[in-house]
This record gives sequence, structure tokens and C-alpha cells, in this order.
Amino acid sequence: MEVDFQILSPLIFTIFAVGFFSINAMRGSRAALVMGVSYLVCAASLLSDIILFHTGPSPARIGVTALYAITAIMFSGGLWTYYRKEAPWRLLAIMGTVHMAVYTWLFFADQFWLRTFSANFGCAIMLSVGLVAFKGHVSRTLDRILFALHAVNCLLCIGRPIYYAYHILGPSADTPFNEELYMVSLHFLIALGAVIMAMALLIRLGKDLVDELENHSLTDPLTGLLNRRGFEARVGPMLARAKEAPVCAIIGDIDHFKAVNDTFGHVTGDEVIARVGRLFGQLGGHHRYSARFGGEEFVFIGAGITLTEAVELAETLRKRIAELNLEFGGRKVVCTASFGVAQLLPGESTANLLARADASLYHSKESGRNKVYSETDTSVAWLREAHQIMASQDSRSRQAQPFAQTLHTLLAR
Ligand code: GH3
Ligand code: MG
Ligand code: MG
Repeated sequence: MEVDFQILSPLIFTIFAVGFFSINAMRGSRAALVMGVSYLVCAASLLSDIILFHTGPSPARIGVTALYAITAIMFSGGLWTYYRKEAPWRLLAIMGTVHMAVYTWLFFADQFWLRTFSANFGCAIMLSVGLVAFKGHVSRTLDRILFALHAVNCLLCIGRPIYYAYHILGPSADTPFNEELYMVSLHFLIALGAVIMAMALLIRLGKDLVDELENHSLTDPLTGLLNRRGFEARVGPMLARAKEAPVCAIIGDIDHFKAVNDTFGHVTGDEVIARVGRLFGQLGGHHRYSARFGGEEFVFIGAGITLTEAVELAETLRKRIAELNLEFGGRKVVCTASFGVAQLLPGESTANLLARADASLYHSKESGRNKVYSETDTSVAWLREAHQIMASQDSRSRQAQPFAQTLHTLLAR
């Protein structure tokens, strides 16, 4: 009956291992693979521990201890792989070798309590290596929870041999040590700690998956910039945080892009879009987002930037695009882009801001392309237009003349 109950732990560990392996199979997560190995080896350790307990002490115990050691090494390695991409495998292997050498020596020297102490203590030290992996990676709540859980597991692992030594050497040394109770409680604690840890790890990996999918749906695959959906998702919260700071938008559109496609083909066209997108991407940063709005049209929005600064940014971008040395199959591709810039008015919607920037872009295109027009330029252009209309009305309408003259004088300044 007892054996039946105990067999639950290796079973649960195997189920978690399958969970980690599945995540690796779906997402190719090396950390999940290493964690899965750790949980599977731990299941094997617990199972062989149970079997050996009922068959009496034998050198096979060395094998079981080695399995526990591999569990600890793989677990720490898994944490390192997740948080730091690379694990200190060499260090962990050296620690494991020393640990096993000490244990084997104590085993053959018949130092019963000392070898049990060393089996637990060694694993605790190797598990603690995993704590270092969290360094600089505890800004998210879930990571802080994982760190705390792992720290508790390490403490439990260190506490066990201390408890054991206390029983052997302490005031209650005369009372016989209930080894079976020790093992059952040992397994229970290992299982409890590891199950909670596995659940937290699976939540972490699951959350990464959701974040990845979300990023995927908000990103343009050709340029890596935000797509329109991603732009809309980011801009709202950014505007709320920007508060009083000036907010400006730049819209850029590649000139005569249809001709690029027609002359060089779609693949080259895509490469041109990607290169221009990369330049737009370099404008991104804190409270600044670049997006591909579709086709060969790009948008940048930034807080804390005045209209003059935004025009300068667009001008730099315009020059850098024109200076792009694009050559495909030995043929040079000439690429320029036109820009429209506008500043957000108090209470104005982003859609309206972009519509105004778009109106300026239209003027850039109208006035010959490869230009930057801001709303100020656009307003002047509109005034000029108005002036021309009024001046033409001049001969027909006397009332219009004073206004036309005033406007003329103003524009001539
Ligand atoms: P303008 O200077 O007035 O902007 O002229 P244009 O030729 O750049 O503008 P138009 O809107 O006439 O053409 C845009 C072209 O961009 C048409 C479309 O085939 C092409 N295009 C849109 N999306 C993509 C894309 O993802 N890849 C490639 N290669 N071409 C695209
Ligand atoms: Mg275009
Ligand atoms: Mg276009």
C-alpha cells in the first residue's frame, strides 16, 4: 500500500517531463528540453530509490545517487539555459564528479550517515548554482516567484542533511532513526517542491508562448517593425504615459515604388522595403515607435519631440534612404522617399494626426517627391493656393482685393 502511494511521485514527475518535452517539440525550447530531462531523471531516481529501499543496501545506491545528481545538474542547467541561453555545464560536471567521488568513497568506507549527508548536501550545492541564473532577471513577478520557489527548494535540500545529521549526532541520537519515515517525508518534500516549481515553470514557458504569438500578430514579418495593429496597440498606452510632452508623427512613402517592382521584380522590391524599414526601425526607442503601415508606407510616432525636431528626423531619414547603396544583380536601384510630418494637437486623435501628416506627405509628392513637408509648410502651401484663387477673383470681385493684398504682403515676408 505504501509502495503504491510512493509510486505517485515518479508518475507525477514523468507527467511534468512530458509537459516540458511537448513545449520543446512545439516551440523548440532548449530550456524546456533540459528541464524535461531533469524531471524524467528525477522520476527514475525516485523509482529506483523506492525499489532499492525494499531490497536493502547495495552498491546500486551509488547509481541512484548519480541519478539525483544528474537531476540537480540538469535542473540548474535548465534554469541557466532559460535565463542566460548558455549553462555552465563544465562547472556542473566537475561538481557532479567530485560529489560522486566523495559519495562512492563514503559508501565503501561504510560511513552510512555521512554518505546520506553528502548525497543530499552535494545536490543542494549543485541546485544552488541555478539561483545564480536569475541574476538580473527578476524584474517580472513570475521570475521573482520562480526564484523564491527555487531558493526554498535549495534550502529544503540543505536542510535535509542537517536534519539528518542532527538526528544522528544530536540529543536524540539514542532513539532509533526511523529510516522509512525519513524516506517517505523526503520524497514528499521533494515532490511537493518540484511540483510547485514545475507548475510555475510551465506557466512561465506558456506565458512566453502567448507573448510570442502576440508579438507575431503585431509585427510585420518583412521589416520586423510593428504592423498597423501593433502600432495601434502601442500608441494608445504611449500617449497616456507621454502626458504633456509634444507628440509628433512622420509618414514616409517610397517614391515610384511601382517602377522598382516593375523593373527589378517583387523580390528586389521586398528587399528595398526591408532596407528602408531598417532605417525607420533605428528611430524606435523609449516612447517612440516605427511601423510599416502596409505596402511601401511607414509611420513613426514619438513623444517628447517638437515639430522642428521631427522635421529634422525625417530629413535625416530622407537623406539616408537616398544614400542607400542598393545594388541587386549588378544593377543599381535608385530609391527615395517622401515625408509628411505633423504634431499632435491637444485632444486630437491619433487617426487625425496621421491624416494631417498624410496631407503633408501628399504635398511632398506633389512638389516633386524626395522631400519633407510638415504641416507648417502645408499650411503655407494652402495659403498660397488660397491667395492665387483670391487673386484670380480679384478682377471679378472688388471686396476680395484688400484680403488678397494683405495675404500677398504676408507671404512675401
Ligand atoms: P508614389 O511615388 O506616388 O508613392 O508612387 P508608387 O509607385 O510608390 O505608389 P503606388 O501606390 O502607385 O504603388 C505602390 C506599389 O507598391 C504597388 C504595389 O505593388 C507595391 N507593393 C505594395 N506592397 C508591397 C510589398 O510588400 N512588396 C513589394 N515588392 N511591393 C509592394
Ligand atoms: Mg510610393
Ligand atoms: Mg504608397
